[in-house]
Amino acid sequence: MDASERGMRKIVFSSPSAGPEQCVFCMIVSRKEPSRIVYEDERYIAFLDAFPFSLGHTLVCPKAHGETIWDMGEPEIAELFQVASKVSKAVVAAMGADGFRFVQNNGEAANQVVAHVHVHVIPVRMEDRGKSADRRRFSVEEMEKAAKAIRTEIDS
Ligand SMILES: [Zn+2]
Repeated sequence: MDASERGMRKIVFSSPSAGPEQCVFCMIVSRKEPSRIVYEDERYIAFLDAFPFSLGHTLVCPKAHGETIWDMGEPEIAELFQVASKVSKAVVAAMGADGFRFVQNNGEAANQVVAHVHVHVIPVRMEDRGKSADRRRFSVEEMEKAAKAIRTEIDS
């Protein structure tokens, strides 16, 4: 099987696979699941990752359910990253970060935990350079403050 054939056949393995009714990100979109939303428009939403790698770690998703980037049309993929870029500027400014990562995992082998397309926007600092990233816990107050600061930057 060559690369183009693999692309056509959508063979990404995803055991967390769930329909929109059971999908936690779809529930965030429909407000059935609480989250700290920092940006929303007609087709995209961004909210804080509940288990962040750093304070301000945000997820950007299309509202329409799809498991991987291959479930999206190319114009939507471009739009998703435009929204992620806009969100990244607010995240970096709000958190006083020195840089940021975009991470976009597809399939269980890539550590995709929720089977709904998302882009991680992870703010990083110079002192984190070369360190391995681990999920961290922050207080409710820290998370609320980060979400508020990011919203303020997006609105400005
Ligand atoms: Zn979903």
